[in-house]
Amino acid sequence: MVTSHTNIIIAGTSIEGLVLARALERYDVNVRLLEEQKSPAHEPKALLLYARTLEVLESIKLAKPLLETGIAYHSLEFNYEGKQIFTPSFDFLKDESPYPFVLSLANCDVQRLLQRALVKTSVEWGMRITKLKQNGLKTEAIVEKNNMEERIIADYVVGADGIDSVVRQLASIKCKMDGGSELMMADVKTEQRLTNNAPSMMFNKKGIMFAADLPGHQARIMMVDREEPYTRLENTEASLRGLYQKITGLPLSMQTAVTVQSKQAVFHQAKEFRAGDVFLVGEAAHAHHPMTSQSVNLGIQDSINLSWKLGMVCARACPETLLKSYEAERLPVARKVNRTTDWTVRSLAVQKPIAVQARNRTLKMVEMIEQLPEAFIRRLSHLSVRYRASAPPLKEELRRAGALHPGDRVPDAALTDFENRKTRLYEHLQEGKFLFVMRTSGSRIDKEYAFIKRWIRKSAPYFGSMVQPALVSPTPTMGQPDDILCWSERHLSREFRQLIGPGESMLIRPDGYLLFHSDAAGWSSWKDAVELFLTAGAEWNLEEQEARKWRQNFKSISRKWKKQLTFSK
Ligand SMILES: Cc1cc2nc3c(=O)[nH]c(=O)nc-3n(C[C@H](O)[C@H](O)[C@H](O)COP(=O)(O)OP(=O)(O)OC[C@H]3O[C@@H](n4cnc5c(N)ncnc54)[C@H](O)[C@@H]3O)c2cc1C
Repeated sequence: MVTSHTNIIIAGTSIEGLVLARALERYDVNVRLLEEQKSPAHEPKALLLYARTLEVLESIKLAKPLLETGIAYHSLEFNYEGKQIFTPSFDFLKDESPYPFVLSLANCDVQRLLQRALVKTSVEWGMRITKLKQNGLKTEAIVEKNNMEERIIADYVVGADGIDSVVRQLASIKCKMDGGSELMMADVKTEQRLTNNAPSMMFNKKGIMFAADLPGHQARIMMVDREEPYTRLENTEASLRGLYQKITGLPLSMQTAVTVQSKQAVFHQAKEFRAGDVFLVGEAAHAHHPMTSQSVNLGIQDSINLSWKLGMVCARACPETLLKSYEAERLPVARKVNRTTDWTVRSLAVQKPIAVQARNRTLKMVEMIEQLPEAFIRRLSHLSVRYRASAPPLKEELRRAGALHPGDRVPDAALTDFENRKTRLYEHLQEGKFLFVMRTSGSRIDKEYAFIKRWIRKSAPYFGSMVQPALVSPTPTMGQPDDILCWSERHLSREFRQLIGPGESMLIRPDGYLLFHSDAAGWSSWKDAVELFLTAGAEWNLEEQEARKWRQNFKSISRKWKKQLTFSK
C-alpha cells in the first residue's frame, strides 16, 4: 500500500469542504481534498446566502463572483391562506453590512465557482475515506480508489462529507438524528418569475410551500403536504404540479422540471465537532430543515472559523490549544440555530385553529414593532453571532456606546489611505492574518510606530508573523515603515471612530471578530488577554459557563431560602 504524508485531509467537496480548502490556501500547509464521487454532483440543494456568509466569503475573495452569479433579494414574504402576513426587509442592514440582502443561487453554481477559485489545491475525485486511526500525534487515513488503497498520514482530518458523514462515524462522534415530514424539492425552468421579487413561504391547512427564483429563468420549490406529511410522492412532474396546485390553488406556471425529488427532511446535531485531531464542518456536524436555509450558511462559517486556526497551528504560528476554540465557538451557535429552526418549522406546521390564530397574530404584531423584524433578519443573516465566551473580558474603561466587546463581530468599514486609495477593512483580512489596528492619540506618530513595532515583536511567540499592523493617523509622516498600513483619520467613518477611540488599539481575528481592545500603550495589558485567548480553550464553552452561572445562582438562592426558612421556623 502506498503511504503519503500531508498536514490536512478534507473529506468531501461539499460547499464547506471547498470553502475550507480555499481558505487554507492562505497558509503554508499541505492539503488533500478527497471526494468519493468521480465528478461534481448536480443534486439541487442550498440556495440562500445571507449577509454574514457573504462577509466571510469576501475574506477569501469569493463574495464578488457569487454576487455576479446570484439574484439579490431585499425582503422575504410569509403568506397564510393567500394573505401576506409578514414581509421582513433586509434594507436596514445597509448601515451594518455591505450585503443588505439575501442572495439566491443554486449550490452547483456555488460549488463550481469554489472549485474554479482553488489555486494550490486540486480535488482528488473517486477517493473515499474508509478507515481512520488516531495515535495522539498523527491520524492515519485509509483511502480507497478503484479498489486500490492508500495510507495518508495527516496532522488533522476534517469531515466535510455531509449528513451521513463517514468521518463522523469513524471518529465515533455521537449524533442525534431526527426525521421530519416528506419534502418535495424541485428546480424548474420558468418563463417568468414565480415569486413577487422575494423568496416566499406560503402555508395553509393543505401544506407549506417555499419558492425562490434562481438565476437563468429557474426557480426552486420546496413543499410539504400537511394532509399526508409522511407519504413519499413520486419524483415526477405530474406529482409536482399536483402538490403545487393543492397548496396554492393555482396551476404551476413552468416550462419543465429540471429535477424533482422527494425525501424525508432530516435534521441532526453532532454531540461534538471534534474528536482528537478529527474535526467536523457543515452537515457532517449539524443539519437543519432545508426550508429554513440555514445549514449552508452555518457550514461556511464553520469552515472559515476552522480554517485560520488550522492554518496557523499547522504553520506553527500559534499554539495547538487554539484549536479548542473551534468547537467551543461553533457548537453553541449550531445548537441555537437548531432550536430556532425547529421552533420555526413547528410553528408553521401548527394545525389547531387557536394555535394558527395565535401564530398569525404574533407575526402581525412582530411586524408592527420595528425592532422585532430587524432582530429576526439580523439573526437569520448570522450578524448577531458572537464569541464572547471565548474572548478576554472588556476593560471597564472601554465600556461606552458603540464599543465592541471582545468576541463581537467587527463590522466592515470604508477606509482611505494617504494616497486617497479607498479600501475596506475586510479586504485587509484576505491574507488570513490578524489585523492589529492602532488609532493615534496625538502628533507623536513616530512614538506610535515604535509602539506598534514593539507590539509585533512581543506578540511573535504567540502569533508568529501572522499579524498585519495598521495605524490610523491625522497626517502622513516621513519614514512610515513599509509593513505598516496607514489610514487617514480624516476619512474615518463615524462607526469606525466609535469602535476605536484615540490612543486605543484593537486586534481583529482573520474571520472579522474582535480578539481584544485596549487603551494602554504597553504590551503588558495585552499579554494576559492574548494568553487567555490562546490557552483557555476548555473553559470556553458558553453553554457550560451559563449552566455553571445558573447552578451558582440556584445555590445562592436556595441558601437564602434555607436561611429564611430556618429564621421563620
Ligand atoms: C433538499 C435539500 C435542500 C437544501 N436547501 C438548503 C437551502 O436552501 N439553504 C441552505 O443553507 N442549505 C440547504 N440545504 C443544506 C445544504 O445543501 C448543505 O448544508 C450544503 O450543501 C452542504 O452539504 P453537506 O455538508 O451535506 O455536504 P454534501 O453537499 O452532501 O457533500 C458531501 C460530500 O462528501 C462526499 N463524501 C461523502 N463521504 C465521503 C468519504 N467517505 N470520502 C470522501 N468523500 C465523501 C460526498 O460525495 C459529497 O460530495 C439543503 C439540503 C437538502 C438535502
